[in-house]
Amino acid sequence: GGFDEVELGVTVMENVRRCKYLKPTPVQRHAMPAVMAGRDLMACAQTGSGKTAAFCLPVIAKVAGDLESLGSRVFGRRKMVSPLALVLAPTRELACQIFEEARKFALGTGARVAVVYGGAPFGLQMRDLERGADILVATPGRLVDIVERGKATLTWIRYLTLDEADRMLDMGFEPQIRKIVQQMGMPPPGTRQTLLFSATFPEDIQRLASDFMLNYIFLTV
Ligand code: AMP
Repeated sequence: GGFDEVELGVTVMENVRRCKYLKPTPVQRHAMPAVMAGRDLMACAQTGSGKTAAFCLPVIAKVAGDLESLGSRVFGRRKMVSPLALVLAPTRELACQIFEEARKFALGTGARVAVVYGGAPFGLQMRDLERGADILVATPGRLVDIVERGKATLTWIRYLTLDEADRMLDMGFEPQIRKIVQQMGMPPPGTRQTLLFSATFPEDIQRLASDFMLNYIFLTV
């Protein structure tokens, strides 16, 4: 089981090699093929398991492919902040870690990665964001703020990842998460993929999983 068994594409694979990821971790080995196959996923995985790359790599590969097929046929999209992939994380620290990892793996693919989080000047983040965000990493509160001010649209989101979902709920972010999913709109079935990562799988996480996903793969490592 190596990284080359997943169709990540030449550029992403080069980035994986450059980062010296020689062998996928168990969560990567199981999650990556499921995401590439278009499945929804609920994964119980701890920090240190390699969960970040487990969702970043296939999402980057998917977004890079989507950008190629969208091309310039969709003229309106690039005029506003309209990411194709969204990763929600509980804290600024985790959001920045995910951003750094995603940026390394997205190098040369054409997929632009951006990050927004609370507690930082709004205007400065908007300037970064307006430079382009195909993959947006965000903390829930700040993202709601941005969307409510009309500074970004979530209707293009095809890939939604909730990282450390149990921590987000512990921190009281459930209303913001539900608002964000509502803002994404209801796409026809099968056009949006949802990936939920959580260290634990208590009742409130199970409820979130069944509200956001249909026929999802359940993974514990
Ligand atoms: P995470 O659980 O995503 O926070 O990852 C934990 C650490 O392991 C990070 O420093 C990653 O860069 C590293 N890592 C993740 N996957 C691999 C891999 N397949 N090979 C080597 N290092 C990895």
